[in-house]
Amino acid sequence: MTAKLIDGKQISQHIIEQVALRVAARRDRGKAAPGLAVIRVGEDAASRIYVRNKLKACERSGVNSYSHEVPASTSQSDLVALINRLNSDPAVDGILVQLPLPGHIDGDAVTDRIDPSKDVDGFHPYNIGRLMLGLAGLRPCTPRGVMTLLQCSGIEIDGQDAVILGRSNIVGRPMALELLHAGATITVCHSRTRELPEKVANADLIVAALGKPRFVQGSWVKTGAIVIDVGINRLDDGSLVGDVDFEAARQRAAWITPVPGGVGPMTVASLLENTLQAAENRDPDAS
Ligand code: NDP
Repeated sequence: MTAKLIDGKQISQHIIEQVALRVAARRDRGKAAPGLAVIRVGEDAASRIYVRNKLKACERSGVNSYSHEVPASTSQSDLVALINRLNSDPAVDGILVQLPLPGHIDGDAVTDRIDPSKDVDGFHPYNIGRLMLGLAGLRPCTPRGVMTLLQCSGIEIDGQDAVILGRSNIVGRPMALELLHAGATITVCHSRTRELPEKVANADLIVAALGKPRFVQGSWVKTGAIVIDVGINRLDDGSLVGDVDFEAARQRAAWITPVPGGVGPMTVASLLENTLQAAENRDPDAS
């Protein structure tokens, strides 16, 4: 079996076009374009690329973007003061603080200060709580993007046995909740998990989010499984690979995401969807 590719690049472009149409329709109704404020602290090279991609996607979809680049030496209180200003700025519907933050800044405390109605990353405890309860809210972008990929590929989740590798607050944990709500039976693996290859081998759906290059071996993948690779790892030769041994896994899987061009672009597309959603929720006529 050779797996069908789940083309995140193409699907994300479709999502961004849909957002652009909805933004244009908003403007036709006399409403402002949604506004996204992006804060980058310090000079992390990968963050610079991620932020640039997010700002480009805003431009493509007609979302206004406000970029705030602050030095690595910024204090916690100065960063919080910036967030407070953005919280009360009516032109800003969404606030994103690009991770990672420098070591002297408490990321959880920063997330806590973002107005939950503007928390387009979906990391605020209020939004995570709503996700936990299965209520509507701003959902973490990467798991939301994975759910969109599955949906757009016509993949049925209900009743599937899903194994999620990784339990981080931004990917693994919310991913598990999304799949649980969609009717999957979930197993969440992490660094303390025993007999991990056996658990993977039983999965109908594998989501790998560990940050370990080519960790999931092809021989672990059940024939006909769906393989979603969230990992982004840069090798010494500069190339990007996922957490799955793609070439080997694609020989057994039914569906697989490539890296790059799989989940990565979907994270950006979901961010735009969240920003539009935040703007719509804040409309005075929203119910
Ligand atoms: P974290 O480092 O926060 O979490 C990694 C998780 O993997 C942890 O739960 C850890 O377990 C687990 N883990 C690490 N090593 C092993 C192991 N040997 N066996 C089993 N479990 C292990 O990473 P993130 O969740 O932030 O990101 C994961 C990957 O996804 C990275 O490659 C990152 O770059 C990528 N990413 C991609 C995005 C995209 O848009 N495509 C967005 C965000 C992230 P424990 O909790 O026990 O330590």
